[in-house]
Amino acid sequence: MADLTDLIKISRKYGSDPAYLLAGGGNTSMKEDGVLYVKASGFALSDITEEGFVRMNLSAMGEIWNKNYPEESAAREAEILKDMMASRLEGEVGRPSVEALLHSNINGRIVVHTHPALVNGMTCGKDGEKICKELFGDKALWVDSVNPGFILAKTIRTAVEKHMEGGLPAPEMIFLQNHGLFVGADTVTEIEDIHSGMMKKLAAYIKREPAVDEVPLPAAFLADFSDIASKAYGKKMEVCGVATTEVLIYAESKNSFAPLALPFNPDQIVYSGPGPLRLDKIEDLSSELNTFMDRWGKIPQGVLIKDIGLFSVGDTARKAATALALVLDSIKIAVYSESFGGPNPMTEDQIIFIRDWEVESFRAKVQ
Ligand SMILES: [Zn+2]
Repeated sequence: MADLTDLIKISRKYGSDPAYLLAGGGNTSMKEDGVLYVKASGFALSDITEEGFVRMNLSAMGEIWNKNYPEESAAREAEILKDMMASRLEGEVGRPSVEALLHSNINGRIVVHTHPALVNGMTCGKDGEKICKELFGDKALWVDSVNPGFILAKTIRTAVEKHMEGGLPAPEMIFLQNHGLFVGADTVTEIEDIHSGMMKKLAAYIKREPAVDEVPLPAAFLADFSDIASKAYGKKMEVCGVATTEVLIYAESKNSFAPLALPFNPDQIVYSGPGPLRLDKIEDLSSELNTFMDRWGKIPQGVLIKDIGLFSVGDTARKAATALALVLDSIKIAVYSESFGGPNPMTEDQIIFIRDWEVESFRAKVQ
């Protein structure tokens, strides 16, 4: 076993910083002596230990590029998952992160993948690509939104090759539209410098910060919401609630809510559903819930109520809290995206792909 001190240190650092990651999302890896140590599904980076990494044979993973897989996405992803599991070193029991194949292809000994709201303001902005080039030049690679899994790994592999064709070094930062960021480098210090330099540039560029000051919720509203939600959802639901100036701005009208109506990134769908619901008044919950269910086949886990605040529901208090954090994150992304040409959410096809993807339902279950 290699010394994983560097990997554990950097994983915990970004995993416990909400400016970079929420809800146990993100993943990291290290390459050493032909072995990829990559985060296993079901572990959070914030308190990860050696146990949280799966050891994989890099040359066995490389064989995946030489194979032909079915065109149909579910059959293809199932077969690739099988090959990924078979690429683990003997005795490994963990399930490699869904992004493991991608990690194996990114230059640098250490690779860190995060979803910072500030970064996603750019990756979810209509002019994100253009501004990314202006701010980061050849040090960055922009990758348009594609379905995750094999297609994403392949798209990045091809884009990196193309980037390096003219003699450029490998990109330090890879920005994925409607998703997040990959950073690859050889040392912990380099990884930290790239992240902090990038965050400083983005922070200096944005025109407005979200107004996160808390506004008190009406007395007993949370208890009322809990009763109404449990009735409407047909089972006892745990609830969370919060109001901020920004939440109330988005909750004000159908128009002001529009930037939040569709999700910005896959994590939002996995942990808080295909978008929050907005109500003029709490009494509308049952009927609006039905409309949402008819459209998406899933319950909304976040509910914005005009003049009141934001609420979330879940089977457990932890799930409700996670859903709330993800909706608050999408509000930040929406505000930041104003500085990058305005919000550009995921498309309906992409939303449905994530909703139905077995890998993602595995993640949600583990959480
Ligand atoms: Zn991700």
